[in-house]
Amino acid sequence: MLYEFTLSAPRADLYNITQQVREAVLKSNVHSGFAVVYCPHTTAGITINENADSDVILDLMLGLSNAFPDLPGFRHDEGNSTAHLKASTVGASETVIINDGKLVLGTWQSIFFCEFDPPRSRRFFVKVIGA
Ligand code: ZN
Repeated sequence: MLYEFTLSAPRADLYNITQQVREAVLKSNVHSGFAVVYCPHTTAGITINENADSDVILDLMLGLSNAFPDLPGFRHDEGNSTAHLKASTVGASETVIINDGKLVLGTWQSIFFCEFDPPRSRRFFVKVIGA
């Protein structure tokens, strides 16, 4: 089963989408398998990280911005090469195990949609696979 979601991303941030992924798993009636969360964009991505201290998200974004500064040598004429670099670093998908009908996530883990080139109207997909 494939589920599509939309997301309004007004600023560069990590948006917690764990609840949407849980809803997709619930609708699918899959009790054992996998959920693949996929972002079909080139300047955004999907990651799993800490949900407890929101400073972790701020530090992650700061760290990525420091790792990928806007360089005068960039050629891409859209002017958002740093967003492309961050998106490739984070990756376009995550796979989460489903057991007993629930996502297997650590206590402090959530699934995040990563917006690196705001403001954008985005989509993401959840593919639920029984196994
Ligand atoms: Zn671009």
